[in-house]
Amino acid sequence: MLRIERIEVFVTDLPGRLRRRMSSGGYDTGAGGSWIGKPVLVKLHAGGLVGLGQIRPISPGHWMPDTVYSMLHAITDYFGPRLIGMDAFDMAGIERMFDVTLPYNPNARAAIDHALHDLLGKATGQPVYNLLGGLRQPDVPLEWSVSMQDTREEMIDEAARAVEAFGIEVLCLKAGEPGGWRQDLGNFAAARDRLGPDILIGIDPNTGWTRHETIQALDGYRAYRLDYLEQPIERRDLQGMAEIRRAARGVPLMADEAMTSPADALALAKADAADVLCIKPYKLGGLRPAKRVAAIAETAGQLLNVGGLAAFCQLEAAAAAHFYASTPAHLMMPAGEFVFGLGVIGPDPLVPEPKFTIKNGKTRVPNAPGLGVEIDEDALQRLTLHRVEVTEND
Ligand SMILES: [Mg+2]
Repeated sequence: MLRIERIEVFVTDLPGRLRRRMSSGGYDTGAGGSWIGKPVLVKLHAGGLVGLGQIRPISPGHWMPDTVYSMLHAITDYFGPRLIGMDAFDMAGIERMFDVTLPYNPNARAAIDHALHDLLGKATGQPVYNLLGGLRQPDVPLEWSVSMQDTREEMIDEAARAVEAFGIEVLCLKAGEPGGWRQDLGNFAAARDRLGPDILIGIDPNTGWTRHETIQALDGYRAYRLDYLEQPIERRDLQGMAEIRRAARGVPLMADEAMTSPADALALAKADAADVLCIKPYKLGGLRPAKRVAAIAETAGQLLNVGGLAAFCQLEAAAAAHFYASTPAHLMMPAGEFVFGLGVIGPDPLVPEPKFTIKNGKTRVPNAPGLGVEIDEDALQRLTLHRVEVTEND
């Protein structure tokens, strides 16, 4: 029994700001001091140990409904008071509590799920990957998601920077430009021309295309070798995805926006609507639901990709890395997309001296107990915009 005694929740500021553009809108970590797009950190206190979990709501400009406010409200007023007194090892009971108390709320659940895994790892002296199935891949290859830019040259420069400065070998170009798929194809052709055949390049229109546009585009991309296609159409259109998958003739089709729960994984498998399922712990509610999706995918003969922008958030990136590291290589698309948590766009302000970094396009999963990322308490105090504590008496 590892009794959860106290919970602290922090909204923390980001000195840096990331702005990116995809077909669904502008993605922005917000101005310093505002609550837009800021990370939420959960500390679970139990038996003298502290479990840490952190999630940064990705919206606006995306399809996730969660915000800093919704996370804070769900954790401090609903999940938190019910977690007090529960056994941290009772993961199934805690998930049931989530479902019957306030269903969905995946960002809030993920922050708690990650903190629970960190806590259990510390309690057992094990890195989280050993709680998830063991160490299958200590070195995780990384993928860089390339934002749309005002000009093609800027977009290709970002792609080239990923390859040249960080050794990244897998890129995903955002697609769904205002000029239609031919504009996207022009971006892709320029990237392929600049980077050559050794770099894997996929595209992600983030639901910005129609069925017929996608099928036309696939023909156009053949000359430049499209390495995968991510979520081209509306997320509920599984029949359309299945039609596109047949037309793709072996270009792997990945479901991302369509893939938000184990139930979605089952529906995609039944509809033969995807070759690859994109796992992001924040959209699924953490590592336990992610492993349930992995089980469905493996049984259905689908591969997994692990994403999650994790901008400026080492703890969030670490959770994805432990998932990746604990999954056999033959079940994966060959890279994880949490590179923006690893200092490439600026440091995590809570982790001034990270041991968890990127080298030659790969990162090594932390091997300390728990998630293996410790935060600087002085930095936390300095950057805290808001703090709430949930205790026995609440
Ligand atoms: Mg995507």
